Amino acid sequence: MLDVERIRADFPILSRTMNGHPLVYLDSAATSQKPRAVIDALVRYYETTNANVHRGVYRLAEEATQEYESARTKVAAFIHAPSPAGVIFVRNATEAINLVARAWGDRNIHEGDEILVTAMEHHSNLVPWHLLARRTGARIRAVPIDGDGRLDMAALDVLLNQRTRLVAVTHVSNVLGTINPIAEIARRTHAVGAALLVDGAQSVPHMPIDVTSLGADFLAFSGHKMLGPTGVGVLVVQPDRYDQMDPFLGGGEMIREVTLMSSTYADPPWRFEAGTPNIAGVIALGAAVDYLRGVGMEAIAQHGLVMGAQARALLSAVPGLTLLGPPPGPFATGGVATFTIDNVHPHDIAAALDAKGIAVRAGHHCCQPLMARLGLPATTRASFYLYNTEAEVEQLASALSEVARTYSPSKSVASMTPDGVAAGSAAPDDEFFREVVLDHYLHPAGREPVDGPVVEWHGKNPLCGDEVTLRLKTEDGRIAGLQVVGHGCSISVASGSMLADRLEGRTLDEARRLLRGVKAMFRGEPLPADLDIGDLAALRGVKDLPVRVKCALLAWTTLEEALDTPPGSPQEPHDHDHS
Ligand code: PMP
Repeated sequence: MLDVERIRADFPILSRTMNGHPLVYLDSAATSQKPRAVIDALVRYYETTNANVHRGVYRLAEEATQEYESARTKVAAFIHAPSPAGVIFVRNATEAINLVARAWGDRNIHEGDEILVTAMEHHSNLVPWHLLARRTGARIRAVPIDGDGRLDMAALDVLLNQRTRLVAVTHVSNVLGTINPIAEIARRTHAVGAALLVDGAQSVPHMPIDVTSLGADFLAFSGHKMLGPTGVGVLVVQPDRYDQMDPFLGGGEMIREVTLMSSTYADPPWRFEAGTPNIAGVIALGAAVDYLRGVGMEAIAQHGLVMGAQARALLSAVPGLTLLGPPPGPFATGGVATFTIDNVHPHDIAAALDAKGIAVRAGHHCCQPLMARLGLPATTRASFYLYNTEAEVEQLASALSEVARTYSPSKSVASMTPDGVAAGSAAPDDEFFREVVLDHYLHPAGREPVDGPVVEWHGKNPLCGDEVTLRLKTEDGRIAGLQVVGHGCSISVASGSMLADRLEGRTLDEARRLLRGVKAMFRGEPLPADLDIGDLAALRGVKDLPVRVKCALLAWTTLEEALDTPPGSPQEPHDHDHS
């Protein structure tokens, strides 16, 4: 059992308040908080040891180099790499995967080869392979997941074949918490002669890892999710793969000898660390590893299971709440609890929790293909780490019950609790905001069909999956009919409803003027004194929340495109990305 209270005392940020409440930080899957030991390591380096590494022939530079290389040794031991030479420092997991795609992929993947990914990959473990496939003519294939959010291992067997050159799979899903059976995947991958890349971004911080017994040829992870600073990540390479890799970035540090016309390269891992590295970040990552080892990775993994089990038990009692992914245990870490609540958009859930000081993530979590597979535009995710308490999970559950009550379709606006806000921190003290936005959200205007010739325009915010379709009918320079349909968070739906309210019957010039005014309002600019924006005034506070501005603007930017379209011309067949 972890002594969580003692651990919490090591994390200065956890004593902060947020919106008048103690901070409850439940977004460690995005980035973890940092203990004092890591922060001190950063400061100490700059105060006492700052010099460039591997170059200086003076004591200070030698000290810096020694600390930098000692962090490499610590990281290697942490994940049981055969030797520190297999540890390459990069910026983050994303860069680690891109490094493999370039340095190994460009040399070993050819036209007609296959790269196998899975339906639960983060975009970081998809896009580099898409780019590689484009460069080489290789083909991407994807292993599906089953209804429980686990990999379909039978499909893996069907998809693996002599053309498979690489399997790129996450160890732990950042959305579902699923633990993939990497050792088994490695066995099957190697049986067809392919290499295995494991995305360890969500596993290395949360469980004991032995890269060799996992059978990963490449393991990528980020320092900032495991108590380390941002800007440092790791690629672990099994020694026999180095011979198959060309240099990635060229420049200082990675060379043996350079003439004007050609160069030879340093040995790995330095061959892959061109230029001055993030020295302070690497040293502080070493301090993070020391901290994690001090607490014990077994104990941290166990704590994740306890948090996850408690979250599942309490959250499943919230009316309308559906949890995704397998329950904590052998097939899931418990480090994440991802869910939906009937009739409540994830943005609204996150904003209402934020009003109570609870930080969670809402959106597609950089897993759009997984969201598509689940048939959900977005979800809400609470994620836990060694500093989270059972009391925090209880606070989460009770706040979510309140959210579910607030958005219950049977609820009248007048009886809403002040904290059960539609947009939380957009204007936490603004009763007008809550009531007006929620009223438009629950009873949106402009839903009636419009007949006759219309311009139909579709807008989408890929960040959260919000969508809107406008059907606009104009007669003699006036808006004779306007239908606004779609789905989204309270701000996006309310903004569309207000648009319909204000524009029906207006001239096109008036519509354009209002549109310019609304866009200016969301940029924080003053409005012309004679421009009456009606209920839209309730959305003024949204300007301070860049992500929500996109929600509020969705219907308006879609209208802008519709107004610029001559009647009868179809919308080009692509998503309109207003993000
Ligand atoms: N893979 C997974 C599974 C992740 O959760 C993340 C971060 N959300 C990444 C890769 C990318 O990490 P980074 O942004 O630090 O490169």
